[in-house]
Amino acid sequence: MNNKEPLLDGLGRVHTNLRVSVTDRCNIRCFYCMPNVDVKFKRRDQLLTFEEIQRFVRIVAERGVNKLRITGGEPLVRSELPSLIRQLSDTPGIDDIALTTNGMLLAEQASALREAGLNRVNISLDTLDEETFQRISRRPGVDQTIAGIDAALEVGFDLVRLNAIAIRNLTEGELVPLARFARERGLELRFIEFMPLDAEQHWQSDQVLSGNEIRETIQREVGELTAAPRPDPSQPAVDYQYVDGGGTIGFINPVSEPFCGTCNRLRITADGKVRNCLFSTDDYDVLALMRDGADDREILDLVQRCLAAKKPGHGIDSDDFERPERAMYQIGG
Ligand code: SAM
Ligand code: SF4
Repeated sequence: MNNKEPLLDGLGRVHTNLRVSVTDRCNIRCFYCMPNVDVKFKRRDQLLTFEEIQRFVRIVAERGVNKLRITGGEPLVRSELPSLIRQLSDTPGIDDIALTTNGMLLAEQASALREAGLNRVNISLDTLDEETFQRISRRPGVDQTIAGIDAALEVGFDLVRLNAIAIRNLTEGELVPLARFARERGLELRFIEFMPLDAEQHWQSDQVLSGNEIRETIQREVGELTAAPRPDPSQPAVDYQYVDGGGTIGFINPVSEPFCGTCNRLRITADGKVRNCLFSTDDYDVLALMRDGADDREILDLVQRCLAAKKPGHGIDSDDFERPERAMYQIGG
């Protein structure tokens, strides 16, 4: 970083981490994220171009953002993604680029992404059972996703991790097979609690299978776990290691144990809205500003206004919790 002021919010949280959504489109329809039918996607001209994304990243990187996560929708459906990764990895100050993907198109793209400078990949997979996969995603895909995982392992990313959403009365039977699958392949596995960001708005708090419950199951059925060191206090996951050396397993518990106090994340949606939180009810239109000819200072001002409005926490558990208008695929997880 240079000696310019970092990106601070009103509580002094320093923002070094940017999540960039590159599309709201997806090749499957997970019920916890998208509607099944009649999805209203943005037109191509409503999305930030690669040049606009790169400009935004350059501006925030000058203020200390050094880590990027590319997400969506499904980021691999955006054409020419490796060329964006190349531009971003050449941006001064950016030293880590990660991707979150459902993995279905990864077998064909892993090598180009790695060559373009992508460092790490998180692949979302909630089940190894095709029938359960289709109940969740409303499309087929387990074998294709596993092919994507294997391709990612082959091209040698710095880290390949699995992300699994756990849902009560649906995925209890998937926890142990997923943990064993991850151990066999030497993959890190992270369980994420189901959050109220599903487009169909069916989320109920009793569907949340908490990280603690999952950990107890894994300990009982797979192997004893012990708390792992926490090198980065702003990481959302609480990690554990198998006592027998069989790898790491993490828990992201935004509902049962919110981690907002150490949040260092800023987001930009595919249609160019800057957001200070997954759950914020406001966003800041950087696409309109850029297309009106704004200079870098005006864009930075918008980011700073957005951060100044960041709340202490998401408040999912409070009585006056208000869901954002956007669902997960329209924000970028
Ligand atoms: N399509 C890619 C994928 O699925 O990995 C990237 C975008 S997706 C929105 C990013 C992550 O958000 C995925 O790991 C997905 O499982 C997770 N996710 C989606 N809806 C969620 C919800 N309601 N609660 C918790 N996590 C959710
Ligand atoms: Fe698509 Fe990812 Fe949303 Fe599933 S979670 S519908 S894969 S964007």
